[in-house]
Amino acid sequence: MYDPKIESHESYLNHPLFINALQLIDEAGQLINADPNIIARLKRPKRIIVVSVPVRMDDQKVKVFSGYRVQYNSTLGPYKGGIRYHQDVTLGEVVGLACLMMLKNSVLGLPYGGGKGGVCVDPQRLSRNEKQSLTRRLTSELGPFIGPTKDIPAPDMGTDAQTMAWMMDTYSQEQGFAQPGVVTGKPVEIGGSLGRLGSTGLGVIYVTERLLEKNGLKLAGQRVVVQGFGNVGSHAALYAYERGARVIAVSDVHGGIFCGDGLPIPKLLDYYNQNKSLKGFERVTEISNEELLALDTDVLLPCALEGVIHSQNCKNIRAKFIVEGANGPITNEASKYLFEKGVQIAPDIIANGGGVIVSYFEWVQDIMSFFWDEGDINQKLRTIIVQAFDKAWNLAQEKKVDLRSAAMGVSIARLQKAMLLRGLYPR
Ligand code: NAD
Repeated sequence: MYDPKIESHESYLNHPLFINALQLIDEAGQLINADPNIIARLKRPKRIIVVSVPVRMDDQKVKVFSGYRVQYNSTLGPYKGGIRYHQDVTLGEVVGLACLMMLKNSVLGLPYGGGKGGVCVDPQRLSRNEKQSLTRRLTSELGPFIGPTKDIPAPDMGTDAQTMAWMMDTYSQEQGFAQPGVVTGKPVEIGGSLGRLGSTGLGVIYVTERLLEKNGLKLAGQRVVVQGFGNVGSHAALYAYERGARVIAVSDVHGGIFCGDGLPIPKLLDYYNQNKSLKGFERVTEISNEELLALDTDVLLPCALEGVIHSQNCKNIRAKFIVEGANGPITNEASKYLFEKGVQIAPDIIANGGGVIVSYFEWVQDIMSFFWDEGDINQKLRTIIVQAFDKAWNLAQEKKVDLRSAAMGVSIARLQKAMLLRGLYPR
C-alpha cells in the first residue's frame, strides 16, 4: 500500500541534527551580517546520492542495505567527510552531519567542501567477509561520484582503517591503477599518514595551550581533567602530561579515577591496555563520571560523548576552561549558562579538528607521493589549528560573543567570500 511517509524525499529537512545545523547557520549569518542569498544556498545540500547495496551474506542469502552519500557543498574544494556504519543511520542524520563537516572544514581553513556518508547496518552483526563485501559494493556504487579530486571519504563510527583499505582497493581496481588519495584514514602501508592516530587528541592540547596563552597562562602546572579514555581522551591526557600539566582525573564509561598530585599517564596507559579498565590502579580514588565533571580543576576536556554537560549539571562545573574533544559534549543551554559564568569553552568544531587536518595532510602526501615525518605533521597541525582558533578568538573579542558563535561566524564568512567570488552559475 502507498505510504506517503516513506515517499517524501525531503523528510531529511525534519531531522533534529539538520534543524540544529540550520539554526547555527542562521545565527552565524546574523553575527556577520551575511548576504541572505548566501545563507539560503548554505541551507540546502548540493547533492544527495542514495544507493542500494546488495550483499551475499555468509548464509548465502542476499540482503540489500541502504547507503547514502551527501555532497553538501563544494565551494572550497572536494567534498570531505566520513562514512558511518550504524543501524540508526538515516538520510536526515547524514545530511546534518555533512552540513556540520562543511562548517568544520571551512573554519579550519581547509581546501574542502563538506560531505558525509552512511549505511544503515549494524556493523557488530557483520562477519569480516560480509563487511568487506558491503564496503566494496558501496564503493563501486559510489564510484562515479567519489575520487581524489571529487569526494574523499574517511572512517567514522563503525568504519576503520581496514574499511578504508578496502574502499581504496575497490576504487583503484575499477580505475585500473592505484588511487590512494580517494580516501583518508588508511593504514600507513598503503598511503596513510604518520601521526593520524593521535591527531585529534594532539589538536585538543594545541587548542588548550592556545586558550591558556590568550589568558596569560601556561599548560605546565595546570590541573587537567579528562572524560573519556579512548582515542581522543587517552592521547589528550598523554600530551597534556608530557607538557607538564597535572592530569588529576580521567574516566571511561565505567567511571573515573582521581589523584590530586597528578596521574602518571604513561604508566596508566600501560595498565589500561593490559587490564582494559581504570579500576584497581595504584594510589587513586575512584569517582563517578558526574563527580569527575564537577571536580575543582583549571581545565576540563570532555572527550567521550555528546550532551554530558547539560542544564541539570552545568551549575556544578568548577573548571575555568573547557576544551571540547568530543562532538557536542555541552548542550546549548549549558553552554550559554557557562559563558555567562565566565567559563571559556573552545568549541568542538575547532578543538577536535586535528583528525580532519591530518586527513588533509594524508591526501596531500598521497597526491605528491612524498611523505612527511611525524614531527613535520605535528608542527603543520599546530599551525593550522592555532590559526583557526585565533580567528575565532579575534571575532569573539570583536563581537563580544562566545567562541562557539565566533567559530561559526568565521566559517560562514569564509564560505560567503568564496561563494560571492565564484558567483551563481549560470547567473
Ligand atoms: P572511543 O570510542 O575511542 O572512546 C570513547 C571513550 O569514552 C571511551 O573511553 C569510553 O569508555 C568513554 N565513554 C563512553 N561512554 C561514556 C560515558 N557515558 N561516560 C564517560 N565516558 C564514556 O571514541 P573517540 O574516537 O575517542 O571519540 C570520542 C569523541 O570524540 C566522540 O564524540 C567522537 O565523535 C569525537 N571525535 C573523535 C575523533 C577521532 O579522531 N577519533 C575526531 C573528532 C571527534
